[in-house]
Amino acid sequence: NKQVLLASRPSGEAAADNFRIVETPVPELSDGQVLVRNHYLSLDPYMRGRMNDSKSYAQPQALDTVMLGGTAGVVAASKNPAFQVGDKVVGMGGWQDYVIIDASQRGMLRTVDTTHIPLSAYLGAVGMPGVTAWYGLVKIIAPKAGETVVVSAASGAVGSVVGQLAKARGCRAVGIAGGADKCAYVVNELGFDACIDYKAQVGVKELSAALKQACPDGIDGYFENVGGTILDAVMQRANAFSRIALCGMISGYNGEPIPMAAPQLLLTNRMKLEGFIVSEHMEVWPEALTELGTRVATKQLKYRESIADGLAAAPEAFLGLLKGKNFGKQLVKLV
Ligand code: NDP
Repeated sequence: NKQVLLASRPSGEAAADNFRIVETPVPELSDGQVLVRNHYLSLDPYMRGRMNDSKSYAQPQALDTVMLGGTAGVVAASKNPAFQVGDKVVGMGGWQDYVIIDASQRGMLRTVDTTHIPLSAYLGAVGMPGVTAWYGLVKIIAPKAGETVVVSAASGAVGSVVGQLAKARGCRAVGIAGGADKCAYVVNELGFDACIDYKAQVGVKELSAALKQACPDGIDGYFENVGGTILDAVMQRANAFSRIALCGMISGYNGEPIPMAAPQLLLTNRMKLEGFIVSEHMEVWPEALTELGTRVATKQLKYRESIADGLAAAPEAFLGLLKGKNFGKQLVKLV
């Protein structure tokens, strides 16, 4: 069984030598356990936080252990009556080809139906990133039809869903993304009303001017994935009583400082800013997954994937995700 371990903790930017690949035998199954052949590994920004030993929104992971991560795969052997060989399953299988999961513990492994929804989508639009988008939009921003919602990292796993759900609720959806290709995709394929290329509009003043054009009625809801100058520019265009769902601040994950230029705008605009962690809101998952699953199955919700080939490609793909080299949900295909 090929596995990727956390070999060392990064100081500053994460690098390939923070990871180590090993081969280990697959142990025997005990009662209640299931052996899963992982087909897809999900790479997510939160993994960067776990590589540090300091507090972040995810717990640190121990050195020399298999990198944690969500996986979608197929049951290869089972000593648990609830799971049959061949079942398609989703769980936290980690960066490895095979995983043994004690499926007698509730919520450790769930079967999924791939008749209308591809297996990989359960790691993206119909999985944790999709529910993240749903929670921040529906529960925190809670937009009314006609309002303007802005989202950063708009072409990514979370951001792409935020804008499409906002459109479905009758809002004006405006994305912010890095590069002309990503912006064209966000508008032409995903159906956002506009998208701003933050790499072509460097600086708060320029970004703010672009936002003024894209959001003629100001901004009522902002779904924050990035932090830094993008947040500062959005704050300048925020309406009174607007809401910010603080989901992520990826521009600071390698340890860069992310100061906020004008926090007083929160006061003068009477804004609400709320951070959240999707795994702490399990109560909304069934409702969110029902909407997301229906929309994907009926092709109303579109998504895009960046797929790295084979486990050995995982570290490089992960480092690329932290630099915006992915275009859509970053996965690793194992078989
Ligand atoms: P994405 O698929 O959006 O990939 C990350 C994207 O972030 C990159 O493609 C890149 O897009 C952008 N990015 C990377 N570095 C920078 C930078 N320095 N400045 C600006 N943009 C950058 O990832 P996800 O959809 O999985 O995650 C999006 C956000 O949601 C992250 O902040 C993540 O931590 C957060 N998250 C939070 C959860 C929670 O429970 N709070 C749960 C899941 C995700 P581009 O090329 O457009 O810059």
